[in-house]
Amino acid sequence: MSATGKLNFAVMAGDGIGPEITDVTVDVLQAAASRVGLPIGLERCLVGLRAYEKHKTTLPQETLDVLKEHPGWILGPTSAGEYPKDDPMRGHPSGYLRRNFSLFANVRPVKAWPQLNPLIPDLDITVIRENTEGFYPDRNLAWGYGEFMPTKDVALSLRVITQVACDRFARFSFEYAKATGQSKISIAHKRTALPQTEGLFIGAFERLSGEYSDIKLELLRVDTFSSAMPRDHRKYPLVATTNLFGDILSDQCSGLAGGVGIAPSLNASTTQAMSQAVHGTAPDIAGKGLANPSALILSTAMLLRWFYQNNGDARCKQAADLMEQSVRSTIDSGNTTPDLGGKATTGSFGKAVMQAIESQP
Ligand code: ATP
Ligand code: MG
Repeated sequence: MSATGKLNFAVMAGDGIGPEITDVTVDVLQAAASRVGLPIGLERCLVGLRAYEKHKTTLPQETLDVLKEHPGWILGPTSAGEYPKDDPMRGHPSGYLRRNFSLFANVRPVKAWPQLNPLIPDLDITVIRENTEGFYPDRNLAWGYGEFMPTKDVALSLRVITQVACDRFARFSFEYAKATGQSKISIAHKRTALPQTEGLFIGAFERLSGEYSDIKLELLRVDTFSSAMPRDHRKYPLVATTNLFGDILSDQCSGLAGGVGIAPSLNASTTQAMSQAVHGTAPDIAGKGLANPSALILSTAMLLRWFYQNNGDARCKQAADLMEQSVRSTIDSGNTTPDLGGKATTGSFGKAVMQAIESQP
């Protein structure tokens, strides 16, 4: 909350369908916030190809300056492929933002919706993935440990796990569990094979668990978890894990839920968080009013929950509830964009969601 009593958001429209879905998301956010009496501030800034046109970089300094001042960011999808070679960001503003602002927790709730023809119709599982270290050379460069080849026929990749990253991630996971009303965190690990790195990770959770007596900790080997989860998914509503395992497990869950169609995500630190749809820029339908804005709306509802987790302001939670319920009821009514089998446009779907927000009891 700023000195003016407003919750401040930076809005980055991105590429492809980004501008269309971001506009609708902002309208829906404003409708939900005003319904619960929550004052919000919005500042737009350029990222992606539009930023390149003006500033010759996909992530200009003036955007970074705005981001530094804003706790909550909404990021539309940014193009994965077609950036100019002279862009100093080399085309992936989203990866840069995650690394440079240490958005260390990546939260991926996976819900099956009947419209996606899910393999598991009642799947409802959230994977929280550590986002700053582990088996990813680009995250570990700061330590001097990228992937490397000591000889021409040997390649090495080191897995960096640090106490400080484990501690902040464990704290985040417990607070997330508390804010979302979960009573258990399942840790997917491989301590048998990687005793020291997994030992640090698990130890951070175990040390904190005394402070969160309402939240149970459960340790599961990641391989056991992968084979058991499709059948026993109800037992594991919230899973916390290291970077590479989280990448794989969250995609496995998405596959079982019928794909990433309307999957939301949040990238968070303790001071800032960014909402981001899991899908890409969908250039094939960009500018046609066909894009489904649900993933970015649901991601932005997660951003409001993150504010609630940090400031305890019940209006943030109420606005998030309104947004989620209204997206769900609009989709359930069959008034969907073509990707879910309906005839709605991006704009008419957004209006229906806003009407649902107005008419919620
Ligand atoms: P990128 O290169 O940015 O990853 P992409 O073409 O791989 O873009 P994705 O967003 O991954 O695009 O989408 C794959 C398919 O799903 C495309 O056919 C796209 O039209 C469709 N799609 C993705 N997002 C949406 C959305 N929000 N609404 C409707 N259709 C979508
Ligand atoms: Mg793609």
